[in-house]
Amino acid sequence: MTLLRVEGLTASYGASQALFGVDLGVAEGEVVALMGRNGMGKTTTVKAICRMIPSQGGLAFAGQDLHAMPSYRAARAGIGLVPEGRRCFAGLKVAENLTAAARPGPWSMDRVHALFPRLAERAGQRAASLSGGEQQMLAIGRALMTNPRLLILDEATEGLAPVVRQEIWAAIHTVRAETGMAILLVDKSLKELVRIADRAVILARGRTVWAGAMDALTPEITQRHVGV
Ligand code: ATP
Repeated sequence: MTLLRVEGLTASYGASQALFGVDLGVAEGEVVALMGRNGMGKTTTVKAICRMIPSQGGLAFAGQDLHAMPSYRAARAGIGLVPEGRRCFAGLKVAENLTAAARPGPWSMDRVHALFPRLAERAGQRAASLSGGEQQMLAIGRALMTNPRLLILDEATEGLAPVVRQEIWAAIHTVRAETGMAILLVDKSLKELVRIADRAVILARGRTVWAGAMDALTPEITQRHVGV
């Protein structure tokens, strides 16, 4: 079943149009990579899905019209976002960051601690005192605590040391293997995306220019639209 359906999505920042027709779908249990060069509209698409900016066009989650929902209802409907730049509650303790977002389901504090033991060690510390990698783990843990049906990760490995990046990728693989959660991934590492994603959707200048199975993504296509 298609969980997320985006059709002909458009969005603007004031007078400046950023999305001109984005099409993408994520099925139950599927991992989809949203790709494209810088500034092509990936984060704007994510923000529109999460109802953080106004948009027009087709936008449905689990058969419900997302355009009719404010962002808190999109979250409640089962969209868990790990936003670009992490945005943890800096003044709250690590454990408080996790419980603030909690909703019933298989993901509990214990399970998040098993995924990221570092968060258990740092439970009593304020989020502001964590390293960048730890804050990223906290942002992922917080999204998992909402027990989403769809997890969206926007540049979750950006700016992290290679060893920390590997920890984050390992955790994403674990989430997928253990729960079969649907995941929409924005990331610059083609190598990692190829390993985990079932399908890719490529944006250029605010439009979907290619969509297909990950194994149909040829070097020519990535060279042309992603620049790698
Ligand atoms: P990146 O990989 O650099 O994050 P992206 O593909 O996520 O790129 P977006 O951040 O969605 O791209 O940007 C799409 C377009 O919208 C760009 O032209 C960008 O300059 C513009 N844009 C993004 N955020 C804003 C904003 N807050 N106000 C005005 N224009 C914006």
